[in-house]
Amino acid sequence: MPRKIVIIGGGLAGAAAAHTLTRRGYKVTIIERRNYVGGRIHSELVDGAAVEMGAGFLTKGYTNLLGFMTEYRLDQRLYRQHGSSAISRDGNVRAVTPRALLGNRVLSWGAKAHVLPLLLKTFASWTDLDIHAFWRADKYDERSVTDMFTSQSGKEFLEYALQPMLNGYFYWTPEHTSEAMLRILCKTAFSHGTYKMEGGLQQIPEKAAEKSELLLGHTVMRVEQTPTGYSVIAEYGGKEQIVQADGVICATTATVVPEIFSDLTDLQKNFFKSVQYSSGALTARTYRQDQTRGDRAIAFPRVEGTELSAVTLSPEPGSGNATYATVKTYASGAIAAKLGGLSDRELQDSLAAAMSPVHDLVLVGKPRPVATHVQRWQEALPFFDVGHFKRLRQFANGGIEDQNQPVTFAGDYIGGPFMEGAFTSGIQAAERLDARLRNE
Ligand SMILES: Cc1cc2nc3c(=O)[nH]c(=O)nc-3n(C[C@H](O)[C@H](O)[C@H](O)COP(=O)(O)OP(=O)(O)OC[C@H]3O[C@@H](n4cnc5c(N)ncnc54)[C@H](O)[C@@H]3O)c2cc1C
Repeated sequence: MPRKIVIIGGGLAGAAAAHTLTRRGYKVTIIERRNYVGGRIHSELVDGAAVEMGAGFLTKGYTNLLGFMTEYRLDQRLYRQHGSSAISRDGNVRAVTPRALLGNRVLSWGAKAHVLPLLLKTFASWTDLDIHAFWRADKYDERSVTDMFTSQSGKEFLEYALQPMLNGYFYWTPEHTSEAMLRILCKTAFSHGTYKMEGGLQQIPEKAAEKSELLLGHTVMRVEQTPTGYSVIAEYGGKEQIVQADGVICATTATVVPEIFSDLTDLQKNFFKSVQYSSGALTARTYRQDQTRGDRAIAFPRVEGTELSAVTLSPEPGSGNATYATVKTYASGAIAAKLGGLSDRELQDSLAAAMSPVHDLVLVGKPRPVATHVQRWQEALPFFDVGHFKRLRQFANGGIEDQNQPVTFAGDYIGGPFMEGAFTSGIQAAERLDARLRNE
C-alpha cells in the first residue's frame, strides 16, 4: 500500500510538495480552505486574457520553477514583459532604471550618490545572495533598510527611490526590510527580465497538484498524533472531516501553524510567531488594449500622502486576436490599514480618484472597463525583516522541525517571498518528509 500524506494548504508550496511526493509513489491529499488551488497565485480570466490578482510575473532566475514548467511545456506560454518602471514625485513621473535614476531629476545629486555604494555592496556580497538559500545572506541581517540611510540625502534616497519600490512591488516598508533583503533585490533587479504567462500563472500550481486528491473549501482545524500516524481534522460545510495520514506537510502561511499544531515547542512557537505579513488590496480594470497606453508601472512615495502605492498597466493576450490591457491600482499602507472598513465599491472609487494625476499616462480618454476585479490580501507577503535571515539559517540547520517526526513545513516565509521560494520550499519539505519516513 502506498503511504498516505496530507498536505495542508494548496498554494504553490503545497502543490510543489504534492508533485514531488506523488512522483515518489505516495498517495497525497491536499486540503485547501479556498475553493481553488494556487493560494496567492490567482488568475482571473477575461475572454482568455489572464488578470493576475496575486503573483504576476517570474524571472529566469526561478530555476526550480522553470525546470518544472519546461518538463510540462508550460514554459512555452511565457512571454517577456517589456514595461518600464517609474516613480512619481511632485506630480512628475520619471523612469527608474539604474541609468535613468542617475540621469533624471527624481532625486537630487546628494541622494543619487547613495546608488553607487549600494551597488558596490551588492556586488561585494554577490555570492552570498542566493534566492534558493536566503540564510546565506544572514551576515547582512543586522539592520533595516531605514537604518542604512539616516543622513538627509540618505533619507531622500530612501523615501523617493527605495520605499516606493518596496511598497509598490512587495507591500513592504523599509522599516520591516532587512539590509540582506535589499541586497538580494538589487541582485535580482540586475540579473533577469520578467515574464508573464498566457492563460495565467495559476496553471502552474494546478499542474503540480493534478495527481493529488483535492479537498477544496476545507479548513484544517488541528492535527492530532495517533498510534499509527496522524489525524488531520478539517471543517467542511459546518461538519468535521477527519483524514488519516502517515505524514503531514503544513504549507500554510506561518501564522496558521500554531493554530493547527497545539503541541509545538517554545522554539517552534517563537519561530512561527516571529513571521509577520504585509497586507494589501488592489483593483484590476481590464480594457481593450487600444484604450490604454503601453506597458508600465508607476510607484508613489508614502511621504506624498497618496492612497496609492502603485499603478500598473500591462497588456494581456486574450482569445483569438483580442488583446486587452489591465490597469491595477494598489492601495498604499495607509489605506490598507483601514481596508476592513471599506466596501469594494468604496475601495475602487478611492483608488480611481487617487490615480487621476497619472490617468492620461495610462488610459486614452475615459473608457469603460470590460471587467473589474477587487482583491484583498490579509497576508500578502512575509516581511523579511531584521532577524529573519538568522532564523532561516536555524531552520536550514534543522533546528526548528522535530527531526524524528514525519511532519514538515513549507511556504514562502521559509523559501523566499516569491514563487521560486514557495516552490523550492515545497520540494525541500517533501524531500525531508520522504527521508524521515524511509528512516522509520
Ligand atoms: C499581490 C501579490 C503579488 C505578488 N507578485 C509576485 C510576483 O510577481 N512574482 C513572484 O514570484 N511572487 C509574487 N508574489 C508572491 C507569491 O505569490 C508567493 O510568494 C507565493 O505564491 C506563496 O506561496 P505559498 O504556497 O507559500 O503560500 P500561499 O499561496 O499563501 O498558500 C498557502 C495556502 O494555505 C491555505 N490555508 C491556510 N490556512 C489553511 C487551513 N487552516 N486549512 C487549509 N488550507 C489553509 C491558504 O488558503 C493558501 O492557499 C506576490 C504575492 C502577492 C500577494
